[in-house]
Amino acid sequence: MFVVMAATATEAEILGVKSHILAEGLTPYEHAGVQRTVIAVVGEIGGRKPALLGRLGALPGVETVTPISRPFKLTSREFHPEDTVIRFLDTTVGDGGLTIMAGPCSIESREQLFETAEFVAAHGATVLRGGAFKPRTSPYSFQGLGVEALRHLAEARDRTGLPVITEVMEPNQVDIVAEYADVLQIGTRNMQNYSLLTAVGRIARPVMLKRGYGATVEEWLMAAEYIVSSGNPNVILCERGIRTFETYTRNTLDLSAVPLLHHLTHLPVVVDPSHATGKRWLVPPLAIGGAAVGADGVMVEVHPRPDEALSDGEQSLTLPMYAAMVDALRKVHAEVAGLGRDPLPTETPGPGHVIARAHRP
Ligand code: PEP
Ligand code: MN
Repeated sequence: MFVVMAATATEAEILGVKSHILAEGLTPYEHAGVQRTVIAVVGEIGGRKPALLGRLGALPGVETVTPISRPFKLTSREFHPEDTVIRFLDTTVGDGGLTIMAGPCSIESREQLFETAEFVAAHGATVLRGGAFKPRTSPYSFQGLGVEALRHLAEARDRTGLPVITEVMEPNQVDIVAEYADVLQIGTRNMQNYSLLTAVGRIARPVMLKRGYGATVEEWLMAAEYIVSSGNPNVILCERGIRTFETYTRNTLDLSAVPLLHHLTHLPVVVDPSHATGKRWLVPPLAIGGAAVGADGVMVEVHPRPDEALSDGEQSLTLPMYAAMVDALRKVHAEVAGLGRDPLPTETPGPGHVIARAHRP
């Protein structure tokens, strides 16, 4: 449930509500909105709900107490009506602009990374991607250069000025990856690795959480909830395709997830058409589709010589294809940004109705 404080509530009253929640054995999460403070009450409430609603509602400074039926709380629009805007280095994700994350699937060598990084930096990328620890389906496939690749990535950031994102696969890698990367990526295979989610929830770096290839949107948001409730509010969601009966494409890109997520959550949403399709010629049209349905960004794999790539060559864009795609993406984004965005969520009463989504175009 959410406790909506009156616009006139004092600090002492807010503190009083939080202490009461703690005394009930539950955890309060405060969100200071534009007009008023909302406190989410998280924990096993069970049969206490009606009595608790009454007790919290009677505390000084409380305007309303709203029971929320959705299982995700801190990631929900009801709790946090404004879009979350995530900042790292000189980049912003979720402010209405279009983030372009580009780079190789795997970092294969210093030269391969630098050649790609310099090209994408000169052609509109805002974040450099590159895999150091690779989750491969086969144990015999290239597994990534590990820490050596992290060092190359940090050097590429210094050369290009682009912030860097790379995947972390295990809780015990979180510290070392966070030492080098600006954003930590959780891959599709690890979306429900709860010890990893909790570990990245404790660090001071944004996290990009990819959708599990067999996960529902609700399961995905519950995974994000693990990260946010562990203390890290800076989570980007990445739709990278789900497994269906279709075999012409590697996965099926669920573009409906983008506006759906904007309705359900305040977290920014990025689309990855590379892993979704598995075919390079399908990447530009679906990247453009992502921008058209309101994604906050796209992530694409790029390789100077895709035929020689050690991983995901078939879906990696060549450098000229990437440059042409960015030109088209920017045009589409300039035309459609914000079009079709629904107004505030309507079916769930709550503080979402109080504060307008002001800064969306
Ligand atoms: C990746 O982005 O390098 C990757 C492995 O993606 P996914 O987890 O979506 O398969
Ligand atoms: Mn890949």
